[in-house]
Amino acid sequence: MSFENKRKNLVENLIKRGVLIKKEVVNAMLKIPRHLFVPEGAISSAYLDSPLSIGFDQTISAPHMNAMMCEYLELKEGDKVLEIGTGSGYHAALCAELVAPDDSENLGHVYTIERHEELVIRARMSLKEAGYDKRVTVIHGDGTLGYIKEAPYDKMLVTAASPEKIPQPFKDQLKDGGLLCIPTGTKSFSQTLYVIKKKGDNYEIEKKCAVRFVPLIGRYGFERN
Ligand code: SAM
Repeated sequence: MSFENKRKNLVENLIKRGVLIKKEVVNAMLKIPRHLFVPEGAISSAYLDSPLSIGFDQTISAPHMNAMMCEYLELKEGDKVLEIGTGSGYHAALCAELVAPDDSENLGHVYTIERHEELVIRARMSLKEAGYDKRVTVIHGDGTLGYIKEAPYDKMLVTAASPEKIPQPFKDQLKDGGLLCIPTGTKSFSQTLYVIKKKGDNYEIEKKCAVRFVPLIGRYGFERN
């Protein structure tokens, strides 16, 4: 079966399960070649709905998790997005397709931070090959500090589990009215996904579901082992 047909089957399955709802997210998932973002040995599994190893004890999240986070964040054209935890770069590409669909420089942009330099290099290559390198900037560093240079952000997503619901730099760098999607909990996978809306000095916190993410390691995250 072609990659395109495998992608269609995956998307149809996510729609049937009620995970994928908005047509923009459906179209973005149908378009992005996920197989370009997984290691060569895992290409045959690229369109299964499961997380896959990308080396360095890290994973590319399962497609249903990518879809859910994009739906919850209500991403729209023009949004400036900060992702903490680039990993493979796939989720950043998905966000970019939603905030800057036609590669126009006037539209939105995705900034994404990764702590493993080797993953930064690979993600940049995959994003270029898939045509998203102008819409996504990959930064090497500790994402728990956010990325002050481009703040404030309309939307922020954290793709590793944080010990705290809203680390201070994320509070400071999220726009008023902006949304943050973040998994929090323990390092041993007892975690919950939250969507948080900033309203002035207050935060509306909505609990979504139980999740399993690798830990967020950094100054405002967990300590490195
Ligand atoms: N969004 C990714 C994708 O599409 O492939 C999946 C991310 S993976 C589940 C989580 C990533 O967060 C890992 O690559 C890990 O190295 C990274 N990470 C953990 N702590 C971090 C930090 N403080 N700053 C930046 N990246 C971090």
